[in-house]
Amino acid sequence: MLIGPGGAGKGTVAEQLTARDPSLWLSRSWTTRQRRTGESEDAYVYVDAETFAAHAKSGGFLEWAEFLGNSYGTPVPNPPPGSDVLLEIDVQGAQRVVSLDPAAVVILLVPPSDEVQRQRLEARGDPPEHVERRLAKGRDEVRLGQGLASHVVVNDQVETAVDQVAGIVESARAARS
Ligand code: 5GP
Repeated sequence: MLIGPGGAGKGTVAEQLTARDPSLWLSRSWTTRQRRTGESEDAYVYVDAETFAAHAKSGGFLEWAEFLGNSYGTPVPNPPPGSDVLLEIDVQGAQRVVSLDPAAVVILLVPPSDEVQRQRLEARGDPPEHVERRLAKGRDEVRLGQGLASHVVVNDQVETAVDQVAGIVESARAARS
């Protein structure tokens, strides 16, 4: 699982990691949030509140949470046989998943500095009050995430961060077999 504050670059690292390692299967979360301009069409499954609520009611989510008035949920994973599931999730969701699967590997991805994190969030074009709320949530994510994660990776250069996360995945596979 990849956890970390907004602006840490979880999405980019997850995308590059799965492109490089075909036996990693990236779970796509559902959200009721509107897609941002420039955001990849498959960053999430974008649904309306009714569709989300119906899926939650029918037990379709492993976990779900609300943030800034929107719902975000991890669908019950259905990976191809032999794949390892990669979740990109917030820390509360990760706590829930670890309670379901204590062997899950949790990696906390952090930005190199508060300044870089703010710049990355502002570059997404979110309203300034949302940037502040994301920064505040991010501080909680790092504080709680340090208690949950077995590894912390600083995302300064994305290739280096992807190398480090790939190494952690390989070690976890080796330890399991
Ligand atoms: P954003 O709007 O920036 O894409 O995401 C807002 C927050 O929701 C981030 O902290 C992100 O990690 C979290 N998030 C994204 N997908 C999920 C999910 O499936 N479950 C939970 N609990 N949080 C999620």
